[in-house]
Amino acid sequence: SGRRPGVSNLLLVVAAASSGGLVAYADSGSDAAVQQPQLPPRKKVVVLGTGWGGTTFLRNLDSRLYDVQVISPRNYFAFTPLLPSVTSGTVEPRSIVEPIRRVLEKKGGEIKFWEAECFKIDPQSKKIHCRSNVGTNLEGNGEFLVDYDYLVVAVGARTNTFNTPGVVENCHFLKEVEDAQKIRRSVMDCFERASLPFLNEEERKKNLHFVVVGGGPTGVEFAASLHDFVTEDLSKLYPSIQHLVKISLIEAADHILTMFDKRITNFAEDKFGRDGIDVKTGYKVVKVSKDDITMQNPATGDISVPYGMAVWSTGIGTRPFVVEFMKQIGQANRRVLATDEWLRVRECDGVYAIGDCATINQRKVMEDISEIFRVADKDKSGTLTVKEIQDILDDIYVRYPQVQLYLKSKQMNGIADLVRSAKGDAEKESVELNIEEFKKALSLVDSQVKFLPATAQVASQQGQYLARCFNKMKDAEENPEGPIRIRGEGRHRFRPFRYRHLGQFAPLGGEQTAAQLPGDWISIGHSSQWLWYSVYATKQISWRTRMLVVSDWTRRFIFGRDSSCI
Ligand code: FAD
Repeated sequence: SGRRPGVSNLLLVVAAASSGGLVAYADSGSDAAVQQPQLPPRKKVVVLGTGWGGTTFLRNLDSRLYDVQVISPRNYFAFTPLLPSVTSGTVEPRSIVEPIRRVLEKKGGEIKFWEAECFKIDPQSKKIHCRSNVGTNLEGNGEFLVDYDYLVVAVGARTNTFNTPGVVENCHFLKEVEDAQKIRRSVMDCFERASLPFLNEEERKKNLHFVVVGGGPTGVEFAASLHDFVTEDLSKLYPSIQHLVKISLIEAADHILTMFDKRITNFAEDKFGRDGIDVKTGYKVVKVSKDDITMQNPATGDISVPYGMAVWSTGIGTRPFVVEFMKQIGQANRRVLATDEWLRVRECDGVYAIGDCATINQRKVMEDISEIFRVADKDKSGTLTVKEIQDILDDIYVRYPQVQLYLKSKQMNGIADLVRSAKGDAEKESVELNIEEFKKALSLVDSQVKFLPATAQVASQQGQYLARCFNKMKDAEENPEGPIRIRGEGRHRFRPFRYRHLGQFAPLGGEQTAAQLPGDWISIGHSSQWLWYSVYATKQISWRTRMLVVSDWTRRFIFGRDSSCI
């Protein structure tokens, strides 16, 4: 075992004193006692984040090929699609998390994990600055540096408050496991407070008014699961106040679930209406105080409503240190890290970005598409060949997976026809397409796509794709022209990333789910709920969590949900 040049140990070297504290240097250099013959040192891969993107990358990476270090402020992977079920106690928090060290152990114990957060990336010197998440009992402030050859940024996103006053102080978010636990406790606190003897009716009503801001999939699923919790379990335990409970769902757009097919949106709105969930569309929340939520609507002006608990779920924003990094590398005008088709951060050697932190800046979609056309139309003729169009589409699909998604949908007749007819004549090199016509069709795509799905599906497919590229990197370096089957494309030694949309669910409560599956196939009702159960049981990352989740569901069927305030 002396011949282990790659199996490195942590060498903590005091490297520099900075801002009043010593900075340690986490080096994963080779063992001093390495014996001959010495293998070339393995390249250092640093992965930031243990969410969907980072964990899928690690699970698929051949870790014998690299010296891998993982940095994340949480030492577990969380199955986020079941977070709304945690808020109502349908599923226990521990059932949806898998310790990251257990995931790494399955890789042969060669990967190192540091529970810390990265607060700065220095792409010039290829170092990242980290801060221990658990503090330190040694001298120093828990900060350290890590070198990389390749950096995979998979740090996800944070909740976007749009700087609305009072949101951070007064609302719950639903992003992490801790958030779901806090919401569960808060719901129970509201019920217990509303039951106290000295409250009048208005005060009880206020405490039992649950407001969900944001009519996207998370807000809708949370409202539905809260409604189930109240009607199926809490109404029996709090019979004297159950008639005072109100759930409001506030959405600034004209409808909820706008990223789903219209049939699903209509069904969800009707169902919530029947369930007594007050869906307020066209209302924008402008302020949240300790007691009231103020919202605006052009017809009614400002209205304020008292509330007991509010959950804010209006989309995602970029993490501050990623914003700083983007400024450093000339991406200050973007909202998320821009990558190319191979998931490499533009203008930044050795840095890759996957998942929510690298999703697309929706507002810039059309600008970017226009730019792609401008560059492609070299001879300024206003027309492009089929081959050029297809290259452009490749580029657009990668940057904007939702465009590919919508192209496949029947609603997108305009552009689909254009592409189909272009492809039909693909053999004829002379076929040309009018750029303006094509751009018009694309702008239709843009107007129909209201919201970029920042999903686990995208993040995990990217993680898987990137790991495959890393696994083939050595071969590719020795054989730069690429495998024979893809030689001649002359673009890159790996195929670009392609997103494959597998469908999406919207659980609506009462054992009913809406499913929008590939091929524009829509299914709504109890049968889709069973599909939802089987997909989410299958998608668990270990047998342990699979067993736990299934047994939680069974427990809930038999005994109901637990209403203790712990
Ligand atoms: P994440 O999974 O969020 O992981 C980010 C990781 O980075 C975390 O480990 C975090 O601790 C770490 N990190 C953060 N800051 C730092 C730092 N400074 N340094 C190092 N590491 C850091 N998607 C679906 O496809 N289907 C669904 O049904 C679905 N339901 C959802 C329900 C809820 C309630 C939520 C919140 C999301 C849901 N999503 C769903 C979306 C999905 O969870 C995200 O798209 C996915 O988690 C993105 O993966 P990621 O790897 O980019 O980020």
